[in-house]
Amino acid sequence: MPSGGRHLRLEILLLPLFLAGLYFMGLDWRPLLCFSAAYLFSSLWLSPDLDLRSNDARRRWGALGFIWVPYTKVFKHRGLSHNLLLGPLTRVGYLFLVGFLVLQALNYLGVRADFHLRISSEILAMIGIGLYLPNVLHILYDHFDSRVLKSGGRGQRRGYSKRCARY
Ligand SMILES: [Zn+2]
Repeated sequence: MPSGGRHLRLEILLLPLFLAGLYFMGLDWRPLLCFSAAYLFSSLWLSPDLDLRSNDARRRWGALGFIWVPYTKVFKHRGLSHNLLLGPLTRVGYLFLVGFLVLQALNYLGVRADFHLRISSEILAMIGIGLYLPNVLHILYDHFDSRVLKSGGRGQRRGYSKRCARY
């Protein structure tokens, strides 16, 4: 399994390429900024490895890292959390659920916490793609690492589970 640092390096390295592609597609600085912010947030704080008890992304959450404990209990390592399509949705959906519960608790305590955001569909799409892409890179890198780089010699599955057990 690649370390969190290797995942992060690859994701940060590819960000300028994605930005260049989006720029040449004609997007102006606002959607590019939103894409970059979402991409970096996803790389640093929404890693698929949040399904592990200890990982770099969870450490970056600092004192708020505990909010990912239920996620770790529900999603086993490299299960649905590492699904190309549904994996990112589980983390974004989980984060929305936590935010919703916090807002409900604040409202219950009498603190008005209503948010009305108006964002264009273009910005929303850039945020979605920015959140999604680093997750796709992470999952593809995990597959590439476990199936291609480490496939020589012994049985893959045995080596794979041994590596996973360390994390
Ligand atoms: Zn992973």
